[in-house]
Amino acid sequence: MKGIAGQGRRPHNPRVTASPTPIKPSLAGLSKPALAEKLIAVGVEPKKARMRAEQLWRWIYHYGITDFAAMTNVAKELRATLAEHYTLARPEIVAAQVSQDGTRKWLIRLGPGVEAECVFIPDVGRSGALCVSSQVGCTLNCTFCHTGTQKLVRNLTAAEIVAQVMIARDALDEWPTPERPLNDGDRKLTNIVFMGMGEPLYNLDNVEEAIATIADGDGISISRRRTTVSTAGVAPRIKELGERTGAMLAISLHATNDALRNELVPLNKKYNLEELFAAIRTYPSLGNAKRVTFEYVMLKGVNDTIPEAKALVRLLAGIPAKINLIPFNPWPGSPYECSNWETIETFAEVLNRAGYSSPIRTPRGRDILAACGQLRSESVKVRASQRQNG
Ligand code: SAH
Repeated sequence: MKGIAGQGRRPHNPRVTASPTPIKPSLAGLSKPALAEKLIAVGVEPKKARMRAEQLWRWIYHYGITDFAAMTNVAKELRATLAEHYTLARPEIVAAQVSQDGTRKWLIRLGPGVEAECVFIPDVGRSGALCVSSQVGCTLNCTFCHTGTQKLVRNLTAAEIVAQVMIARDALDEWPTPERPLNDGDRKLTNIVFMGMGEPLYNLDNVEEAIATIADGDGISISRRRTTVSTAGVAPRIKELGERTGAMLAISLHATNDALRNELVPLNKKYNLEELFAAIRTYPSLGNAKRVTFEYVMLKGVNDTIPEAKALVRLLAGIPAKINLIPFNPWPGSPYECSNWETIETFAEVLNRAGYSSPIRTPRGRDILAACGQLRSESVKVRASQRQNG
């Protein structure tokens, strides 16, 4: 270990000089190839590593165990070696909150000063959805979004994205045990939405790897069809997202003309509506069973008139689509107000009459700032020079 060099100069004080227990890396969240590498690193024969990784996989992702000792079909010696070098720990939960409506939010620490939030929303999707973050902070600065006020700190790794799902399963106590198999129908957590902090298409490699781990049928087993990735409109990566993940696509639209969208979603200046819609039309296997979700935040006096609802219908022509109208969720210092309920209903009616399913999304978890666009952590990017000093 580094850091021993300076010890001789310190006055003798056992509490200061005792070498700190090295933190063992966790295997929870890793992909199969990464898991195999970790096995090879502690002496497992490369030829056998894949097979062993498969064994571990089921314990880690199907049963969610946190103790190597429970892996009864793994040789005792290997279990001991694993425990010596690794853990199955989840990232630390810094804060856990429960809303009056049952929505739960966790603030998790991924490293010193690096924190992200994820939110479990009961009764959406098939049974309940977990809203995961893909970045700490965001680069996009959408004017109505709280996360947009936090600069990008960094991309999350695939393991850190998967760990959010594991934390939720822990908290919901729904890992099956050999004695208590859990049927798919009993699960509370059935859907994953990449609608937390960050822009998933700016972290596509890790999002792809995370989805592969989460969807694996021998593990967490939440299918790609029940996984939705939401983007503010990174047009050149949209088709690729579909090809690489098979996930459902959601687009944060919020405006029907470039002038307004440039203002609300500044990314529109880079990829305008024409380019965005051209990209959406290339999303693989769109059809009635695989519709694009369009998210439209209702901002009072900004984007909520009847002509805009009609413009929205025209924009969506020919695309298998559903529309989620999201009442604006305020946050401290937010510059907008939510449209009146009547206005939202009138807007929805125009869409319904045109044949679109357009549910008004009930705001969930507003009291704990867990609703759409309210997520934010205190993490800031630390320069390398500062990090060394700290
Ligand atoms: N960057 C991706 C993922 C974030 S998803 C994206 O933009 O799609 C979060 C969703 O909540 C987006 O549709 C976003 O536009 C919406 N949102 C952001 N702030 C909001 C707010 N204050 N009220 C309601 N919805 C909001």
